[in-house]
Amino acid sequence: MYSEHRETFLEVLAERDAASIVFSGTHQTRNNDCDYRFRPDSDFVYVTGFNEPECALVLLPHGKGTEESPRTILFLRERDPLMETWNGRRLGIDRAPEALGVDLALPIGDLWDCLTDLLIGYSTIIAPTGLDEARDRKLLDVLSSLRNKVRGGTRAPASIEHPRDTLHELRLYKNQNEVDLIAKANSITLQAHHAAMALAADGRNECELDGEIVGTFIKSGGTGESYNNIVASGNNGTILHYGENNQVMHDGQMVLIDAGCEWKYYASDVTRTFPVSGKFTEPQRAIYQLVLDAMMASIDEVRPGVPFNVFHDTATRVLAQGLIDLGIVSGTLEEVLENRDFAKYTIHKTGHWLGLDVHDMGSYAGNEGPRAFEPGMITTVEPGLYFTEDDVDIDPKWRGIAVRIEDNILVTTDGNRNLSEGIAKTIEDVESVCAGHTAACV
Ligand code: MG
Ligand code: ZN
Repeated sequence: MYSEHRETFLEVLAERDAASIVFSGTHQTRNNDCDYRFRPDSDFVYVTGFNEPECALVLLPHGKGTEESPRTILFLRERDPLMETWNGRRLGIDRAPEALGVDLALPIGDLWDCLTDLLIGYSTIIAPTGLDEARDRKLLDVLSSLRNKVRGGTRAPASIEHPRDTLHELRLYKNQNEVDLIAKANSITLQAHHAAMALAADGRNECELDGEIVGTFIKSGGTGESYNNIVASGNNGTILHYGENNQVMHDGQMVLIDAGCEWKYYASDVTRTFPVSGKFTEPQRAIYQLVLDAMMASIDEVRPGVPFNVFHDTATRVLAQGLIDLGIVSGTLEEVLENRDFAKYTIHKTGHWLGLDVHDMGSYAGNEGPRAFEPGMITTVEPGLYFTEDDVDIDPKWRGIAVRIEDNILVTTDGNRNLSEGIAKTIEDVESVCAGHTAACV
């Protein structure tokens, strides 16, 4: 799969007379001498599948002009028995070409010196800038030393271009292997959400559910969480990126869980909301069903040819009409859509690309406006309604209710496929998964 990705990227580079450098990233300090667990940059995963820090893949579509010259060169850490004893195994230079299918492997220490030589003659260098100042500086140094050589009859690249329109466009279209990886991630996410639904009970802490979810992800052999879990009971659910996950839950509240397993660095991103007691109250049921109706209508708009904004507008219309019907906002649908009275309860957009990054690369609009869905794209669909506990404008019965439901939708040639389909979502299914717990617990 990764060599396929490299080949496609090389074709794009050739068309543009461009070369590219893709970096894996480096260890980041957590505190004192402890690092965060290393997670390679998604661009680097896409073209190598390799998980070591301090690497860079250089892609050269013309090589150095001869048939045998390498088109893919991986710069990586050299083997070092002492360092490996302390910090773990390294693939090393000798084994890299065969293990990863790259044409040539060289020590990472040689990268910047080699680049000046390798990049001569290309019009453009495609590399990420703006993330690492020291690295940007070195890239500019390479560029200026190339420009100093032009009097010798060579051509220096005219620009450094962000991978947005090349590598990130490729990442937007998932092939069958990638779809399978995200489906696999979702099969573990299903277990995690169902376990959390079963575990929730009056007096339990959000952290117990969080632990259950993380444990399910890790035990499955996945690469962890796709993003920080949100386990938000009651009013905490109205904080979109709540992350404390440390409050005691009570009957009468709901829990909003936004958590997705990462499998081989491919993300799932799923939200479910369910009652702590296992039974929705009437107001909770009304809001939940409204969000679910908006979601189902919205998912129908995820199909080839439909512009990216439509599924959001559809969800918005359903939610706005529902808020009118429940007496939470007043006016006709057109009036409410116009004055946006609903917006303080819906807050966010209805979805985003999903892939190696949870908010995946790929643009949402071109010069002509929102782009249309095409087969292979994966978007989340995640409408929500949020009523804070201190909102004096609404009937007290709605206060502290937060509902978001989120699935992962693949655009297919004839419509879409829901990659998180099996995760309980109807009121009936949610109550039944929650009830399985009550029985088990008693
Ligand atoms: Mg999410
Ligand atoms: Zn999401």
